[in-house]
Amino acid sequence: MRLLRLNEPISAGIILSYRCTCECRHCMYACSPRWSNDWFRLDDLKQILSKLAYYFMRFYPHNVQGVLGLNYGLHFTGGEPFLNFNLLLEAIRIAKEFKIPSVFVETNCFWCVDDDSKRLLLRLKEAGLDGILISINPFTVEFVPYENMLRALKYSIEVFGRNNVMLYHPLYYELLNLINAKGRIEFEEFVRRLLSKSPALLSRSLDPGILLPMGRLVYRLEKLYEHYPARQFFNEACTYELTRPWHIHIDCYCNYVPGYCAGISLGDARRLNEMVENGIELDDRPILQALCMGLGHLYRFAVENYGYRERRDGYISKCHLCLDIRRHIVERSKEFKELQPLEFYRHL
Ligand code: SF4
Repeated sequence: MRLLRLNEPISAGIILSYRCTCECRHCMYACSPRWSNDWFRLDDLKQILSKLAYYFMRFYPHNVQGVLGLNYGLHFTGGEPFLNFNLLLEAIRIAKEFKIPSVFVETNCFWCVDDDSKRLLLRLKEAGLDGILISINPFTVEFVPYENMLRALKYSIEVFGRNNVMLYHPLYYELLNLINAKGRIEFEEFVRRLLSKSPALLSRSLDPGILLPMGRLVYRLEKLYEHYPARQFFNEACTYELTRPWHIHIDCYCNYVPGYCAGISLGDARRLNEMVENGIELDDRPILQALCMGLGHLYRFAVENYGYRERRDGYISKCHLCLDIRRHIVERSKEFKELQPLEFYRHL
């Protein structure tokens, strides 16, 4: 029996729901207002947070205790967590009961419409929230007025302190200010205004260290990138990405989502201890098995069994090839338990 050995998780994101007020072109999790209105059940959440707390207690690095960072502690995300504010409050209280460190929330700021909105942040802080990650970028600003983000930033600094407020991404904040952003701005308009200032800044903003070429982006923004034939990625394997201990995700259906690999489930996170202790069986998860062996294996599996054909335009990244194959397979078969949630593939 082949097994995939998982590392003990030391930082995690909880996807409270995939439902969002935005449908951002770069969204890794393909969130949207069109997703089912499904949210994490409190009893599942309690069970999962208690298991995460167990690993955090034993393996959390001492040198980042008390530090807020994207890849530290626990964050509540989505979708848009503020759409279900009471659940968010309760989730924070539970995390704090379990003494989980560095708890923050990620938001697009749709709710920050006036000066009264600061009260929401105060209530979250009172429940135990340590900080916040504000989505400020040219994709969110297509849906949420820039003023909401600036207001949320100002109040967040007042409530949580400057060190406990993060932006995704500081460069985009700089660029949006540079183009004198106001209200909502279409991405094409953002690009046009930025190009008139400096083409170099546009290419900096597409740096894969800032904008990961995976998820919905590979279809909605592919024209901005160079394309390569499938064989370019055949020798790349993903064992590290699938098993890494940092910034894993658990979604509202209890799927253990490795890293940023949306649409892939390693299993039911309510059984996290068994998954970590026993490993993940690969014999009945051929897609996972292929990903561990190399993208070439996944490609051949899809061509031979599901009639997959290489895109004539090519692919911008290995994750583009991986996702395109997975989407093709899901359209023809629902039998793969490692391809979850299925709805993800409909909202790309
Ligand atoms: S190729 Fe697939 S499995 Fe590998 S990192 Fe990208 S999305 Fe994850």
